This record gives sequence, C-alpha cells and structure tokens, in this order.
Amino acid sequence: MTIESTPHPIAALASAILPDHPEYDAARISFNGILDRRPAAIVPCATTDDVVAAVRAARAAGLPIAVRGGGHSVAGHCIPDDALVVSLTPMRGVTVDPERRLGHAGGGALWDDVDAAFFAHGLAVPGGTFGDTGIGGLTLGGGIGWLMPIAGFTCDNLVEAEVVTADGSVVVAEPDGDSELLWALRGGGGNFGVVTRFTYRLTPIAPMIGGPIVYPGSAASVVLDRIEQLIVEHPTATLPTMGIHREEATGEPAITFLVGIVDGSDPAPVLDLLRRDIPVLSDGLGPQSYLDLQALSGTLPFGLRHYWKGHFLRSLDHDLLGRLVAAVGDADSIGQSFILLEGIVGAGREEPPGGAAFGQRAARWNVSALGIWESPEDDATAVGWARRVAAMLEPASLTGGGYVNYSPVDESAERVRAAYGADRWERLVAVKRRLDPDNVFRFNHNIAALG
Ligand SMILES: Cc1cc2nc3c(=O)[nH]c(=O)nc-3n(C[C@H](O)[C@H](O)[C@H](O)COP(=O)(O)OP(=O)(O)OC[C@H]3O[C@@H](n4cnc5c(N)ncnc54)[C@H](O)[C@@H]3O)c2cc1C
Repeated sequence: MTIESTPHPIAALASAILPDHPEYDAARISFNGILDRRPAAIVPCATTDDVVAAVRAARAAGLPIAVRGGGHSVAGHCIPDDALVVSLTPMRGVTVDPERRLGHAGGGALWDDVDAAFFAHGLAVPGGTFGDTGIGGLTLGGGIGWLMPIAGFTCDNLVEAEVVTADGSVVVAEPDGDSELLWALRGGGGNFGVVTRFTYRLTPIAPMIGGPIVYPGSAASVVLDRIEQLIVEHPTATLPTMGIHREEATGEPAITFLVGIVDGSDPAPVLDLLRRDIPVLSDGLGPQSYLDLQALSGTLPFGLRHYWKGHFLRSLDHDLLGRLVAAVGDADSIGQSFILLEGIVGAGREEPPGGAAFGQRAARWNVSALGIWESPEDDATAVGWARRVAAMLEPASLTGGGYVNYSPVDESAERVRAAYGADRWERLVAVKRRLDPDNVFRFNHNIAALG
C-alpha cells in the first residue's frame, strides 16, 4: 500500500507566492508606506477559474481572503497580515460594445486601461482622476471623477458584475438577476466576493475646456462664493474639485481649482465666473481631451506615508473654509499633505435606476485631509494634523462618516456604518449574510455579517 501525501491547499495553486518565494517582498508592497504586512499567500489570478480555485483553497486552508485590484487602498485593505490575497493584477482586459454603449473590464483593470479603450470610441465612465488607481476598489466604494456632473458616481454606472462568492460560486449581479447584489456592489465595497468582471454604462464625451486655476488662500471667501454660484447656475458643467495646499514658491496656502467642463455647454460663463475680479496666481485653463484631464493629476508613487480622513458635509461656509486654509498654513501640515474638496453635483445627486448602496449623495461636499509625508519620524505630526482637520469638519458632517474609499488605516466601525445610514446598512447586512456569512471577505469597509 502507498500513502499519497496530500499537498497543502495553497501550495497546490500553481501561481501562489508564499513567504519563501523570491517575489514575495515585491508582491506585498503596499501603496501606503506606513504599512509593512505579511499575507499568508498572494495568488495572482488571470481568469475567473483561477479566482474560484484560490477562493476554494483559502476556504480549505481556513484562511480569510483579501482582494487586490489596483492596490491603492490607503487603509491597506488589499495587503493584510496572514490572509490569502487574491491578486487581480493579471486580469486587466477591456472590451467595448460601442453600439450598446457598454464597457467590460477585468477586476484588476486600472483607469488607464479602461479610459484608453473606452475613449477610442468617444465614450467614458466616470472614473478616478489618477490613471494608475484600480477600477475595483474605486467603483465598489462609490467613485468620484470628472464625469459626475453628467453621469453620477462611478458605481451608478455599474450595470452588471461577475462575482466569485465566498463558497467559490460564480454569480452575476444584474438588474434581471441578483439585483440586490448589484445594488450592494454600488458602494458597499469588496464585502460580497471577488468581482472578476465589471460592466459599465458608457457616456459620450464632448470636447472639453479644463485645467488648473490657482488662487491665493487669502481669496478663499470670494473663491467659495463663485463656486457656489457656479454650482447653482451650471450644475452639470464641472466637478468642483479643489485642493488647498502650500504654494511651492512662497510656502503660503493656495487653492487649486481643477476644472473640466464636461457637459458640452458654452464654457464662457463658467470661465468668466472663475476669472473675473479674483486674484489668480496661475491659470492653465484651455482645450483638453478627456484623456488629458485624466492625466492632469499625474501619479503618486507607492511607498509614501499616508493618513487620510474626512467627512461628507451638509454645507461649507466661509468660516470653515477659512479655518481649513489656516490649517494648511500650520507647521504640522508637512510633506505633500493637502485638503481635498469635492463638490457633489448634477447627476451625482440622483440615485441611478435600481438604486445604489452608496449613502452620501445628499452631501454638498466631500472634504478630506490628506496627510502625505516621507519620514517615519513625522508619523505623529502628520497623523495628528489630519485628525485635527477631520475633527474641524465633524460639526458639518452629513452622516458622521467619511468617504469609505479614503479610509485611514484605523477607520472605526462606527464611521463605516454612519457612511451608509441605518436603512442601507440593514440591506447591506442582509446581502452580506446571504453571500459571506463567515465574513471571509473582511479586509474592506467591513459590513460585519452579524450587523
Ligand atoms: C493616488 C490616489 C488617487 C485616488 N483618486 C481617487 C479619485 O479620483 N476618485 C475616487 O473616488 N477615489 C480615488 N482614490 C481612492 C480610491 O477609490 C481607493 O484607494 C480604492 O480603494 C482604489 O481601488 P484599488 O482597486 O486600486 O484598490 P485595492 O487596494 O486594490 O483594493 C481596495 C479594496 O477594494 C476591494 N476590491 C478591489 N478590487 C476588487 C474586486 N475586483 N473585487 C472585489 N473587491 C475588490 C477590496 O476590498 C480591496 O481590499 C484615490 C486613491 C489614491 C491612492
């Protein structure tokens, strides 16, 4: 009689990168340099079958599962300790059906992948404004981008998804099938399984005017008045997106308003509002293609240290904006730290057909302190600054929660729950209980199965 040794379920996966593998350290690098985590295994998956095999192996080995899409989670959700990481890095294929205005993309695609393929047909889906971030995490948490005024949040445009669930089944979330799962995926994050294919409704793109216009921090009040006027008079023209930062030349606070006029309207009244009788430090507005706009913010390298925290606000007034400008001038605002303000406008204020789990669209602004620095010696200073700015925002918070996609590493369960509100939370818990009762997918803005 021969006794066959049974291979360990993870070691049996041909592509598994285990801790003794020469590529392990490169594969576990986190976008956020404050994290140094060691997963039990990282499993690159090129097909849905690979994902099914990885999920089944993790279950057989009793390991929880993390999902790596584009790898940009600031909270480090895609690289936890002691879990099996399903890495979708090889799954970046994109196809377009221009007649039906639908785009399909693999679960590990980046915005650079989908933007290039969709825009070749004059089409796009609202996406992140950094091309190297992943469509996966961004879509599943909401998605704020240039096209929000005319097409809503990214998740509002998700019309179908192929998902590998916790028991290794492959299900399709769609309006005529598991519509409740589709609703949950529109903002509820990576709680319900591994999305192997995203299908988006695409929007035709008109020629655009856009670019950065920079004002001194001392002009904050008039800038805010003009932008509020712009939102009322031209709600579908441009995503109001502003960074309060230190100006490189002087070190003084400045406000950069990134403009992208996306609705094909006459840009003259908008440009007049932004330029007339306001002190301007620099003005880079001009004709832009959608791909130019998507490249405007450049990239941020992996390895910088990050702590981001904020709130969706009911409103933003002069006093609060003035205090935010002062906070950027404060000595604790170090490195590349800045405050990001994103207006919720136009189609972003409307629920898509079938609804969405995303729970913050009644807010006027999403405001976040982005602590970004290099040296571990500055951790306490930079984290303290971001927390103080978030506390400053709290009295104006719509729900008490921030943008789940900008969560810091120590995000509280209370803030996650607040981001959805009681009714949406109950619905999300019901979907979670049905598809992942053991909370195997727990490295995310977690909808704990027991509520
Ligand atoms: C430089 C930078 C710029 C950003 N710009 C924007 C922006 O313009 N607009 C905006 O809305 N947000 C933006 N974000 C936030 C962004 O939405 C989140 O960081 C998001 O998590 C990135 O997705 P990812 O796939 O790269 O992340 P990952 O770290 O790979 O994934 C994060 C989590 O998402 C889930 N997930 C990812 N892919 C899948 C999948 N296929 N199936 C199931 N679960 C999955 C998992 O829970 C995973 O742990 C930005 C972030 C950074 C760092």
